[in-house]
Amino acid sequence: MINIAVTGAAGRMGGRIITAIHEAEGLELAGAVEREGHGLIGQDAGSVAGCGANGIKISASLEEALKDADVLIDFTFPEVTLANIAVCAELGKSIVIGSTGFTPEQRAEVEKLAKQIPVVLAPNMSVGVNLCFKILKDVAATLGNDFDMEIVELHHNKKKDSPSGTAVRMGEIVADAVGRDYNQVANYHRQGMCGERSKAEIGMQTVRGGDIVGEHTVYFIGMGERIEISHRAMSRDMFARGAVRAAGWLGKQGAGLYDMQDVLGLK
Ligand code: NAD
Repeated sequence: MINIAVTGAAGRMGGRIITAIHEAEGLELAGAVEREGHGLIGQDAGSVAGCGANGIKISASLEEALKDADVLIDFTFPEVTLANIAVCAELGKSIVIGSTGFTPEQRAEVEKLAKQIPVVLAPNMSVGVNLCFKILKDVAATLGNDFDMEIVELHHNKKKDSPSGTAVRMGEIVADAVGRDYNQVANYHRQGMCGERSKAEIGMQTVRGGDIVGEHTVYFIGMGERIEISHRAMSRDMFARGAVRAAGWLGKQGAGLYDMQDVLGLK
């Protein structure tokens, strides 16, 4: 049995993750955490998630929630995740990180702490998106510099970070496949007389609205033809199931930084 604690327990993803743990074999919820002062502290985590009371009360103390846990699943925000991974490193617990929007400095901090404990860090835990990552690498490498690459992503109007962590990862993969540095070639903004598109740039556009769970399209645009590789998420459940699968997988790994490609055996 692998015991799991969940941070952001009352959040959009937290509830789906608690439900996915409830439905998984060999995994059990051992703790649930919300931010200090949250109105649902002290409530039953299963009832809040809608999968039935399980006797685990939502707590404001990560240390208390980790007491009986082997792995933490954290879908919160980068600042919160950095504080949480430090606690996991101190207590020798593994962590699955779903939070997105890390700066390069924050990511370096995660990499440093992953030398002490097993960590899965993935901006998108869906099997379909991770398969797209693999396909995108092959397509970009095959088309080389003859096709312009542009990325468009759509999300709900409550999303705080832009572009999505998934879109940035897609940009990094296709840039890397043709020998470019994504951070040097990403173009987030075109307005007015900004001139012709440069050969190397990768356009990155975001759309925000309503309740869109998450959609990503990478365009490979050539002379007279175009390839579009799209992924559309219809519900948050596949992210939750991916995170729970990663927690089960991580239980058997040594210290190090892993991603969903490792978890799914796609490397
Ligand atoms: P949300 O705002 O609904 O949930 C976040 C929760 O974290 C909130 O309930 C908030 O109260 C809680 N929180 C804040 N500070 C905390 C603390 N110190 N301790 C414990 N809990 C704390 O957001 P969401 O839609 O669930 O998304 C959360 C994160 O997951 C975002 O970064 C989002 O981009 C990311 N996400 C990742 C994937 C993936 O597959 N990796 C999928 C969807 C969302």
